[in-house]
Amino acid sequence: MKKKGKRSKVRVAFRKNREARARRQNLTRDVLDAGAEEIDLAGGERISGKGDVSRHRTVVAVETEDGLVLDVDESACLTGRVVSSVGLVNNVRASDGRTFECSVRRVVRTMARDGRNVVVTGDRVLFRPLEDGTGVIERVEPRGATLSRFSQRREHVIVANVDQVVVVVSAADPPVKPNLVDRFLVSAAKGGSKAVVVVNKADLVDVARLQPLAGVYTRTGHDFEIVSATTGFGIDRLRRRLAGRQSVVAGQSGVGKSSLLNVVQPGLALATGEVAEDSRKGRHTTRSARLLELSGEGFEGANTGWVVDTPGIRQLALWDVEPGEVEAHFVEFRPFVTLCRYPDCSHTHEEGCGVKLATRRGLISPLRYASYVRILEGD
Ligand code: GDP
Ligand code: ZN
Repeated sequence: MKKKGKRSKVRVAFRKNREARARRQNLTRDVLDAGAEEIDLAGGERISGKGDVSRHRTVVAVETEDGLVLDVDESACLTGRVVSSVGLVNNVRASDGRTFECSVRRVVRTMARDGRNVVVTGDRVLFRPLEDGTGVIERVEPRGATLSRFSQRREHVIVANVDQVVVVVSAADPPVKPNLVDRFLVSAAKGGSKAVVVVNKADLVDVARLQPLAGVYTRTGHDFEIVSATTGFGIDRLRRRLAGRQSVVAGQSGVGKSSLLNVVQPGLALATGEVAEDSRKGRHTTRSARLLELSGEGFEGANTGWVVDTPGIRQLALWDVEPGEVEAHFVEFRPFVTLCRYPDCSHTHEEGCGVKLATRRGLISPLRYASYVRILEGD
């Protein structure tokens, strides 16, 4: 973590304080144990009223580019990555390869802005190993791109630090559904991840026939790979894309996601084919995200790759996207939007639409335009 080097004392106001239980000499402990729910990080500027002392505790925080974070004794800690997080149990893979079952230090929980997403799969953490082989998470490092589900307008982070979304389609059996690809691309962009389109089952078609599709996606600035899990074609390039990154592999069922990962790293223990399909619904509801480690040849040290194994995510649209946000992710529309007669043009039913004109003239791919309309319609 980049520190600005500035240490500041921060007053932390704990609400829901059970005053009756608090004893002078042990105020802090009692306040914490009372299950404080909310805090106010005001950078030391908060002035507490008289007699209000019991509600405050001073902790040392460090100012970083991402705001204030708890300062902890780093010499007693290890760094690691949360590979699964179910209930209160977080399995953390330390950078030395060992795995620790970790709980979360209460003040970390208390300081979190959103109590539901304190520690999630993919988080990079600092944790203190204990003698019994378990550990305590002392700090969660600031997150990069996240993948979330929304329910009742609340965000539920499924996995943090997603470096890229690998959108897998198959050249045939099942045929490519551009609409689905674009949906994943929009979701990836919204979550802040880059995306790569991977066309599998290249062995089933004449590869030259895939060039128009490659053209569509490379022109919109996306990476594109043609591969075959069966023949091994393109697998080395796919490996290099997965090395040193944390990826979400997304795509319709049956396109070969599990097969590809099993070829990338034999023994990754991903179910392929029908059996996995049947059990998928059940697993979707009962299991949260899990990270699989790619550590074989080509994935040594800093090149270790991480793949999110979450059956539900593989097929779903990843993030909720509001209609007004869709256009921004179709970058090739941008030059033509300024030609639209109406500033709030949705590029669907309007007269004098620059985007529709550009599509008719072949300047925008009709496939992409069709996807845009379908995503907008919530189809
Ligand atoms: P998933 O649902 O996306 O994980 O797909 P699977 O990995 O389970 O594969 C679905 C089916 O496609 C299986 O029967 C695989 O054997 C087959 N398959 C996967 N990759 C290829 C490939 O490159 N070529 C061909 N011909 N079949 C493949
Ligand atoms: Zn328009």
